[in-house]
Amino acid sequence: MNGMFGIWGHPKAAEITYYGLHAMQHRGQDGAGMVVSNGERLKLHKDVGLVNDVFKRVNFPDFEGHAAIGHIRNATQDDGVFENVQPLVFRSLKGSTAIAHNGKIMNAEKIRSSLESGGSIFQTTSDTEVLAHLMKKNNGDTTTEEAIIAALGELVGAYAFIILTEDKMFVALDPHGIRPLSLGRLGDAYVVASETCAFNIVGATFEREILPGEMLTISDEGVKSTRFSLREPRKLCAMEYVYFSRPDSDLNLVNVHSARKRMGIELAKEHPVPNADVVTGVPDSSISAAIGYAEQCGLPYEMGVLKNRYINRTFIQPSQELREQGVKMKLSPVKGVVEGKSVVMIDDSIVRGTTVRRIVRLLKEAGAKEVHVRISSPRIENPCYYGIDMSTRKELIAANYSNDEIKNIIEADSVEFLSIEGTERAIVKDKTINQGVCAACFTGNYPIIENDHRKEFYRKYRVD
Ligand code: 5GP
Ligand code: SF4
Ligand code: MG
Repeated sequence: MNGMFGIWGHPKAAEITYYGLHAMQHRGQDGAGMVVSNGERLKLHKDVGLVNDVFKRVNFPDFEGHAAIGHIRNATQDDGVFENVQPLVFRSLKGSTAIAHNGKIMNAEKIRSSLESGGSIFQTTSDTEVLAHLMKKNNGDTTTEEAIIAALGELVGAYAFIILTEDKMFVALDPHGIRPLSLGRLGDAYVVASETCAFNIVGATFEREILPGEMLTISDEGVKSTRFSLREPRKLCAMEYVYFSRPDSDLNLVNVHSARKRMGIELAKEHPVPNADVVTGVPDSSISAAIGYAEQCGLPYEMGVLKNRYINRTFIQPSQELREQGVKMKLSPVKGVVEGKSVVMIDDSIVRGTTVRRIVRLLKEAGAKEVHVRISSPRIENPCYYGIDMSTRKELIAANYSNDEIKNIIEADSVEFLSIEGTERAIVKDKTINQGVCAACFTGNYPIIENDHRKEFYRKYRVD
């Protein structure tokens, strides 16, 4: 999960990119960066850390330019090093190219070894860099646009790219549209962002989503759309609705808060708790679902758990020990709400089970009589190969234990999950717009597999 922002045709491109990135800080806290073009050269500023810290000492008038792209990074493994913070910039005689990427190139290792044996030298350990090398390989007497299209044809995986050269911006989404990416307008300028909450912050209006297998070329001549692959039905990541995106963002014209609330309603229909007194959520990600659950079963929604907003997300800390400590610092129970009560505790998802176990314990320590855990998404039984940090079955509690076993492990009085059908009903409000989602971590039904024969298929049917 990363966040990206791009703007073309605005005198304050860098400053606006800063605000756009800031709105998407929840998508990653390990690094941030931006590249600005003044039409003649690209200027880069990036570092590890939060958006505010990274740009604290930047004097925006020094970053003059009409176009910029920015990135916020959530390091997936222990690779939170400076080199891997994006955008990545590559300079050659023909000019410079800056690349921002969200997703995961599944065949990156394979491409990389073949390029390395052909003499290429890589600067980072990031899978993003293969795109630059493939572009270079394909960039004999072709245009940058043709080089990008040829390079994309070699990639298998989930990706959203924003690429900036001195005189053009390119935006591309993989053939299944797994990662989110939208186009907007800010006066005469074009803006692109992973989440529409970034448009709201800078005063831009939403225009449309980038389509699966679509590339946009944005320049002084306006926007040109190219299809670089046969378009598959969209498989936008369901977890964007469950957890990643901000509630005020719209994905595929579906508002995230509303989708979460419907998940809570579906969950209440599927798994009510007889004789419960109160419903509570875990700030911030499960509040919407908890409101929906409470509304559906006619129970009061109360703030049973408080969040210390100055602690970073527990999930991105490296070791289990640190993660558990992180949860303690982050959440506190509200005794007056839960004491002596039968509490329905809604969380958005269970990955390792660390968070939910700690919260059940907090609520019990605060005097809750019973704690019934209801999860507003299905059991995560399968790893994600598309760029989300849930890559081994071993760490997934639902891949290894039944609901009854999980109940005992987390010391709850009951545990139930929303069904896959209920989740899809809540998200896919309108089939004509949505065309479905990727739900592979729940279902095991992967829309893309690495050795996919369809790779050839994409090339063959490429529509330029
Ligand atoms: P766990 O503690 O079970 O490993 O993680 C689940 C909890 O962490 C949920 O409360 C969810 O809001 C939060 N969380 C943080 N990062 C992620 C992520 O990458 N995926 C999911 N599904 N939940 C996450
Ligand atoms: Fe999202 Fe899960 Fe699909 Fe990964 S497997 S893209 S987390 S829905
Ligand atoms: Mg949470």
